[in-house]
Amino acid sequence: MTDTDSIKEIYKAMGISQEVYEYGEAVAGKLQERFRQIDEVAEYNQLKVLRAMQKNQVSEACLLGTTGYGYNDMGRDTLEAVYADIFHTEDALVRPQITCGTHALALALMSNLRPGDELLSPVGKPYDTLEEVIGIRPSRGSLREYGVTYRQVDLLEDGGFDYEKIRENICDRTRLVTIQRSKGYQTRPTLSVERIGELIAFIKGIKPDVICMVDNCYGEFVEKTEPGDVGADMVVGSLIKNPGGGLAPIGGYIAGKKECVENAAFRLTSPGLGKEVGASLGILKDFYQGLFLAPTVTAAALKGAVFAANLYETLGFPVVPNGSESRHDIIQAVTFGKPEGVIAFCRGIQSAAPVDSHVTPEPWDMPGYDAKVIMAAGAFVSGSSIELSADGPIKPPYAVYFQGGLTWPHAKFGILKSLQCLADAGLADVKSLLPIVTLC
Ligand SMILES: *Cc1c(COP(=O)(O)O)cnc(C)c1O
Repeated sequence: MTDTDSIKEIYKAMGISQEVYEYGEAVAGKLQERFRQIDEVAEYNQLKVLRAMQKNQVSEACLLGTTGYGYNDMGRDTLEAVYADIFHTEDALVRPQITCGTHALALALMSNLRPGDELLSPVGKPYDTLEEVIGIRPSRGSLREYGVTYRQVDLLEDGGFDYEKIRENICDRTRLVTIQRSKGYQTRPTLSVERIGELIAFIKGIKPDVICMVDNCYGEFVEKTEPGDVGADMVVGSLIKNPGGGLAPIGGYIAGKKECVENAAFRLTSPGLGKEVGASLGILKDFYQGLFLAPTVTAAALKGAVFAANLYETLGFPVVPNGSESRHDIIQAVTFGKPEGVIAFCRGIQSAAPVDSHVTPEPWDMPGYDAKVIMAAGAFVSGSSIELSADGPIKPPYAVYFQGGLTWPHAKFGILKSLQCLADAGLADVKSLLPIVTLC
């Protein structure tokens, strides 16, 4: 038996038919140049992270934690300095007390906005869970309840910025502009760091003192630059996505201008206490090590996303981004047009997991979302979406959002499993695939 044969045998034993396997090989075989570019970005970012750790003299003692109030937590303070260096910002708040990405974003907004201020999103509707933070959907404790108003300018049909409308919607009260890098649950293009920079420059040209915040979820380490490099005053994200590298079990970060970060710290803990308190408990080793691994973990997830795009594009399903586009986040959207496709895809991803592969995901009502959502996640960290995961709101256009994979071989296996499930459900015609692949 040759090595290739034995890999094929294992795939077969794990439920991947010969047709699906060979189709996958044909698609992957064409992606060598894309993968080389992804590896090059990972190399750059690995050095960026390492350099920041060395510069701040991360020591063995930094990996230990504090308890109680957490005064003089050297590991926590050093980690925040490392984040500030990586994101090229003045300061950062990186804490296990920030429970998730939504919490980090809510914290950044609520601590930097005051009654009477206005918030503007110049890139269309923000991520679903932020609707309740802002009060777009009425919600207890929303910014709206505190007298912060909200305006939104949608992207143009072609995904471009509607500069004219943005200008019209910046007023005296506009205090903060929120820019979401990733597409989230939409099929609009994700913003590159360069385009975010253009938008920030335009906005600051109209109102220099406005705070520009970037929701950086899923974007970290995908490019060589981050929003802090192009003028963002706050860069915000979740540690159970890219920057946690799969190891952080909880947490969020806010990197940015000193004043903005301090405002967030006073809100997170208490006025007068700010960054001084907040014990790191035993979590710092995972925060550091996860950050250290994050560039290559992000690269693995990106390879999976590129592979999925090419695989499903050839099958005729609309994919965003498409197979050849450049990437600015790790999310891949595939539109199936019917609920059954979303469900089959997610069940395939679930069955490929290292944890809970035997369970069958079902659509359910989730807090913060306005439609039923099906989620596939067999993760070491519950809900972690840097691990191989997929989710799809059960509403038109019935698109699934796929992301993650701590290693490329695992991402590849999960995507093949998803295709196998679609094929088994009669939703993708695997037998007719191979000629298509050989043609393209
Ligand atoms: C995931 C995500 C959030 C929210 O993060 P949670 O950790 O799920 O609360 C916000 N914005 C975007 C773009 C995201 O992808």
